[in-house]
Amino acid sequence: MVSLPDLVEQERETLAAALAELGFPRFHAGQIFRWIYRRGVTDAEGMTDLPRDLRAALASKFRLTTPAVVQRDRSIDGTEKFVLRLTDGRDIESVFIPDTPNMTFCVSTQVGCGMACAFCLTGKMGLVRNLTAGEIVGQVRVLVAALDMRDTSFNIVLMGMGEPLHNYDETMKALRILADDQGFNLSPRRVTLSTVGLLPALERLAHEPVMPNLAISLHAPTDAQRGALVPINRKYGVAEIIAACKRFPLKKRSRITFEYVLLAGVNDSPQDARQLARLLAGMKAKVNVIPLNAAAGIPFERPSDEAIDRFAKIVAEHGVTVSVRKSRGRDIRAACGQLIVEGQKKSAGQQLAVII
Ligand code: SAH
Repeated sequence: MVSLPDLVEQERETLAAALAELGFPRFHAGQIFRWIYRRGVTDAEGMTDLPRDLRAALASKFRLTTPAVVQRDRSIDGTEKFVLRLTDGRDIESVFIPDTPNMTFCVSTQVGCGMACAFCLTGKMGLVRNLTAGEIVGQVRVLVAALDMRDTSFNIVLMGMGEPLHNYDETMKALRILADDQGFNLSPRRVTLSTVGLLPALERLAHEPVMPNLAISLHAPTDAQRGALVPINRKYGVAEIIAACKRFPLKKRSRITFEYVLLAGVNDSPQDARQLARLLAGMKAKVNVIPLNAAAGIPFERPSDEAIDRFAKIVAEHGVTVSVRKSRGRDIRAACGQLIVEGQKKSAGQQLAVII
């Protein structure tokens, strides 16, 4: 059976064209967007100000799918982790992080991830599949409804499960749908895309009309170190990534964030800090140090608080802005790199990742 097109996979222009094809005025597309994204309806029947024949046509010609919340955990720090079930039964995780000072949704772009970074639990799952644009935006729809945030502004970080540039087209389509002024009207400046630095996709991103903020998961200043942590570095090395970042068009006052997961005895020495600072010298950059969120199955340790401070201090003394990411939601395994949905695909790595 061929399934019907899904309303949440349509950009407004495509929807307008589809409506015209069915003999309805194009402007209804804006109305439908307002119902789905602003008012949160989950079926065409709920779009009560649409003509009855249009509602009937929508119900028979389209689906309107919404991820289902199958688990919701609240951390003592207010962070909430949602496990969402997709229509094919796959599960993903999305996280709400309050008061950073903004409200932030940490959203997934894939089920699992193919990048296999050595310290990341999601990486242990392997890539199960890409999310569609509707599933990426669907996480936002569900969280807004569950948290009653229809009138609250929020930011999005594409830092959940998955590598967004490995699912380029659907991720960019999701950002366009989120930005639609008849929908969430979410400015791309409120979105941060975090990536291991897939070069061809990074170059493509540089030419997008709708461009999010950029965060690069660097984690080490040399190819030798980074290659051991981030396997794709063997294809796209540190120097190439930095060169691409230097060419990246940045708006006034905006800077590229370089994420740096700090691992005890691996990449946290004073020399590493100095090399990192030298690498980024003269760039519009800031470093975000992420002390490792440890878990069983992850063969690294979190450095001591002193080592974390020392590292950040050296980077700062060399003139590079640096912050240390406060880990949120660790008690509910919602922190960076801790998103893993068990029991849906038993890769060998996943079986090893026994979590306490
Ligand atoms: N694939 C993208 C998006 C994931 S973002 C990327 O790699 O950028 C999640 C961030 O958390 C990345 O910077 C990732 O390297 C980091 N991370 C992964 N595992 C972690 C862990 N165990 N502790 C702390 N940070 C981790």
